[in-house]
Amino acid sequence: QKQIVCDPKQIRWSSTETSLKNDISSADIRGYKGHDMLAPFTAGWQTTDVDPLVIQKSEGSYVYDINGKKYLDALAGLWCTALGGNEPRLVAAATKQLNQLPFYHSFWNRTTKPSLDLATELLDLFTANKMAKAFFTNSGSEANDTQVKLVWYYNNALGRPDKKKFIARIKSYHGSTLISASLSGLPALHQKFDLPAPFVLHTDCPHYWRYHLPGETEEEFSTRLANNLENLILKEGPETIAAFIAEPVMGAGGVIPPPATYFDKIQAIVKKYDILFIADEVICGFGRLGTTFGCEKYNIKPDLVSVAKALSSGYMPIGAVLVSPEVSDVINSQSNKLGTFSHGFTYSGHPVSCVVALETLKIYKERNIIEQVNRISPKFQEGLKAFSDSPIVGETRGTGLLHGTEFTDNKSPNDPFPPEWGIGAYFGAQCEKYGMLVRVAGDNIMMSPPYILSLKEIDELIVKYGKALKDTEKRVE
Ligand code: PLP
Repeated sequence: QKQIVCDPKQIRWSSTETSLKNDISSADIRGYKGHDMLAPFTAGWQTTDVDPLVIQKSEGSYVYDINGKKYLDALAGLWCTALGGNEPRLVAAATKQLNQLPFYHSFWNRTTKPSLDLATELLDLFTANKMAKAFFTNSGSEANDTQVKLVWYYNNALGRPDKKKFIARIKSYHGSTLISASLSGLPALHQKFDLPAPFVLHTDCPHYWRYHLPGETEEEFSTRLANNLENLILKEGPETIAAFIAEPVMGAGGVIPPPATYFDKIQAIVKKYDILFIADEVICGFGRLGTTFGCEKYNIKPDLVSVAKALSSGYMPIGAVLVSPEVSDVINSQSNKLGTFSHGFTYSGHPVSCVVALETLKIYKERNIIEQVNRISPKFQEGLKAFSDSPIVGETRGTGLLHGTEFTDNKSPNDPFPPEWGIGAYFGAQCEKYGMLVRVAGDNIMMSPPYILSLKEIDELIVKYGKALKDTEKRVE
C-alpha cells in the first residue's frame, strides 16, 4: 500500500473539491482578494483563505491571469472555447449586432433574423437524424430542462399522462438547474439539494474499465447494460418511461467513451418501449470528437438533441434543443387543444448570441474544423496514452479532443487513493504551477483543449502533463 508524502494537515477536503493550500503554487502571488462572490462548484466555505485565480486575458490556446502568468487552457474554458481566446471575427460579429440591435426577444412569434437563420443552420448541420425545429436557450442546463418540458407536453398531447419518467445514467452530467442536476448522475449534484427529482431514474454508467466483470468483453458488457436498462423499464412499467438521455461521450463524469456496441444495444431497447432518445451534445457537438456531432460517431439517431458550449465557441451564452419532426408534429398539431407551449426565456435566441453562433459555425466550415480536429487529435491522444504506465495512473482514455485520466493504485479501479490525499487536486495544482489549466474532479483529470491547438502546443501540453505527473508520483511511494 502506498503512503502519502506530505503533512496531512495541509490537505483540505470537501465533497466536491480538494484544495491543497500549500501546494497551490501561485496562491501567494494570486494577489487579488475577493471572496464576496459565491463561486460555482467551489468549496467556497472552506477555502476563502485561498485567493481565486483571476483570469484577465485570452489569446489563442492560452489565458493569462491578473499577474500576467500564462496558462495553456487545456480545458478550453469549460469545454467551450473551441476557437480559442481571441477570434476577431466573433468579436466583429457581436459588435456589429450590438450596434444594430442589441436585443429583441422571440416570444409570441416576434423574433429576429439571426435567431431564424441560426435555427435553419443548426437543422442543416445535424444530419444523424432529421430534425425539424430548434428552440433556443442560454445554456446547456436550460436546454436539458426544456427537453423535459417538451417531452411531458408531447406525452400529454398524445394522451399518455403516465409516460413521464426519465432515465439517465450514473456519472452523467446534464447541468445544474433543478431538473438538469436531477438528470445528472453525480452524487455531489444531488447531496444536500434534495435531488434527484422523483421522476428521474439512473441506470448503469458505461465505463468498461471500472465496471466490467472478470472475463467480460466490451460487447458482453454492453449487452449486460442494455439488459439492465430493459429490466429497469419493465420493473417501472414501460408506459411510465418517457425518455432516455445520454451524452455520446460522458464528459464531466470523467471523459468516458462508450464501449463497443453500447449505443446500438441501448437504442434498440429504448425504441422497443417507445421511449424518446435525447442526445446531450453539449460537449461532444460541433467537432470535438472529430465528427460534427457525437451522434454521427456512434450512429445515434436521437429524437431530441441538446447543444451549447462550442455552438458559440463560448463567446456568448447560448444553447439549443433540436426537435425531430415526429415530436414537433405532435406538439404543433395539439397545441391549439392543449394551449400554448408556454416556455421560453427572455434571452432565448438573443440576437448577439445568435450572430456569434452563426459566425462560429461559418468559421468551422471555412477552416474545415473537423479535419483539423482529426489531424491533431491522434498526437494529443497518443502523447497522453504514453503516461498510462505511470504507477499512479489507473486508466487514460479519450477520443478526439477529449481526454480523461483516472488516478488509482495498482492500476485497479478498485484501489482508489484515499480521497483526503487529494492526488487529483495536487496534479491539478502542479499543472497550474507549470502554466496549464485542467479540470480536476476527485482523482479524475479532464482535458478538452481548443480545436486551434497547434502541434507545438500539443507537445507543450504533454510536457506539462508529464512534469505534473512526475511530481504527483513523488507524492506517493
Ligand atoms: N450537458 C453537458 C453534457 C455538459 O457538459 C454541460 C456543462 O458542462 C451541461 C449540459 C450544462 O451546460 P451549462 O453549464 O451551459 O448549463
